[in-house]
Amino acid sequence: MPDRAPQPVDRQLPTEEARDLIALVRDIVQREIAPRAAEEEDAGRFPREVFSLLSDSGLLGLPYDSGFGGGDQPYEVYLQVLEELAAARLTVGLGVSVHSLACHALAGYGTKEQRTEHLPAMLGGGLLGAYCLSEPSSGSDAASLRTKAVREGDDWIITGTKAWITHGGVADFYTVLARTGVEGPRGITAFLVPGDAEGLSAATPEKKMGMKGSPTAQLHFDGVRVPDARRIGDEGQGFAIALSALDSGRLGIAACAIGVAQAALDEAVTYATGRQQFGRPVADFQGLRFLLADMATQIEAGRSLYLAAARLRDAGLPFSREAAMAKLFCTDAAMKVTTDAVQVLGGYGYTADFPVERYMREAKVLQIVEGTNQIQRMVIARHVVGPESR
Ligand SMILES: Cc1cc2nc3c(=O)[nH]c(=O)nc-3n(C[C@H](O)[C@H](O)[C@H](O)COP(=O)(O)OP(=O)(O)OC[C@H]3O[C@@H](n4cnc5c(N)ncnc54)[C@H](O)[C@@H]3O)c2cc1C
Repeated sequence: MPDRAPQPVDRQLPTEEARDLIALVRDIVQREIAPRAAEEEDAGRFPREVFSLLSDSGLLGLPYDSGFGGGDQPYEVYLQVLEELAAARLTVGLGVSVHSLACHALAGYGTKEQRTEHLPAMLGGGLLGAYCLSEPSSGSDAASLRTKAVREGDDWIITGTKAWITHGGVADFYTVLARTGVEGPRGITAFLVPGDAEGLSAATPEKKMGMKGSPTAQLHFDGVRVPDARRIGDEGQGFAIALSALDSGRLGIAACAIGVAQAALDEAVTYATGRQQFGRPVADFQGLRFLLADMATQIEAGRSLYLAAARLRDAGLPFSREAAMAKLFCTDAAMKVTTDAVQVLGGYGYTADFPVERYMREAKVLQIVEGTNQIQRMVIARHVVGPESR
């Protein structure tokens, strides 16, 4: 069994406040998240109370305006917080990232009145959010979504099914993309739907390979009535809002991936230095030393890539290309590093006695969510080569 706690990652942080934040996160991780992670993931238990604690501690609205209850933190700090959370438990790190994604539309495109009314509760008032874009028949081709919102007086009536919704059934609010006009991306509008809206119901959560503590469910909208005051942005602007949220969300996924990879490397190093074969620690053998060196290099490269993209965003510069590159590279690196960590532990790595098999199962989903890595390559190629000819 491991006999040495992993060393915390040395982080370059821009302010004293950011250093205090990371210290606070490490304290919460050590006391409230890490000790229960393996057992609760195994049992498929969603740690709702951890999200309440994070909200009370000011950690659910970090990258948003303090005038509306946010933390005013640059993305480079917020993402490193996500990385620390995901290293302890992906259900929590990814959950915070999805919550931020759900707040993005209102924070960026809502009116002053809408932001004043809703944002403080969303960013620091204990509420948990979800982001509803995918549907059973539209994943990568999200612009073909079919959920409809039809105007009736001052209200909209939403009907349809959303699929794969993280926090589906447990969220307090849903940012929902629905069709209000023509086919394709220009006929989509965003809405903020309360979790207890009449006509809204969640299916039994999906049985997943990993992140079993994070509920992922279909959501059924059966004539859900939403006032026009809960429409976010203009009619037809929803798809542009959704894509802009995803640019930022992809950075969150990249940071979570590096967290999972770092946790796997730490475990692999601890094990390799303790496990003896042929009269020596297995960490003495060059075959493993080089493997561990490659794992560490992938992690540092990924961290540098997501931080470089975050710093562009923080400077108000375009970062869509870099966000796609960071998501692609970091999640592929996490898959490779976690698979190699299982190899370092040999047979023990393949058992649930050690967390590396969980990390490997968790890494897989990060190559799929918020645009599969095939879709990231399409985005990057459009920046590099230009649009396809047809
Ligand atoms: C655990 C989990 C949580 C999720 N959470 C959310 C959430 O909170 N909100 C939400 O809206 N969605 C969520 N999703 C959905 C996720 O974003 C989609 O699964 C993803 O976008 C892929 O869509 P799909 O599963 O329908 O696959 P498809 O789009 O059907 O793709 C199938 C395969 O075809 C490939 N492919 C598709 N088009 C192309 C192309 N043009 N070129 C090359 N390859 C292509 C894909 O890469 C993939 O390998 C979640 C998914 C999972 C598994």
